[in-house]
Amino acid sequence: MRRGNMTRVICSVNTCTHYLNEDVCGAAAIDIMHEEEGRMSALAEQTMCKTFHEASGITSYLGSIDNVNWTGALLKMAGSNHQANPQIDCTVASCHYWEEGRGCAASVIEVSGCQANECQDTNCKTFKLREGGTRL
Ligand code: SF4
Ligand code: SF4
Repeated sequence: MRRGNMTRVICSVNTCTHYLNEDVCGAAAIDIMHEEEGRMSALAEQTMCKTFHEASGITSYLGSIDNVNWTGALLKMAGSNHQANPQIDCTVASCHYWEEGRGCAASVIEVSGCQANECQDTNCKTFKLREGGTRL
């Protein structure tokens, strides 16, 4: 089962507790999902990063502490060239890059949503509708 862990994640959601400088995500794993339950995404705007957790003081960081890629995040903060990168778990089966086993075949994905307040404000910008994608 491929789980998209070879895919690089670039994220500009600077209001997320997992956001690290230079648009790196410090989470151990992220869930990319359809924005609306039961409705297949046809556009990037209809996808979201469900792992988004709004940064609003120290308690918000404690709330997402169980999903931190500690090695990657600490090396990154220490200025190491090591690239923190989360594993991707994606349920957006209408996407051209989606693979069985909730994987992503893209070499890199971009998560957008600068100044987001909630998951729905974020998108997988790399989403591309597969042929017949919303009829799955
Ligand atoms: S929005 Fe998602 S991809 Fe971006 S930093 Fe937060 S958890 Fe990572
Ligand atoms: S590019 Fe497609 S398959 Fe990959 S994470 Fe984004 S929506 Fe999912």
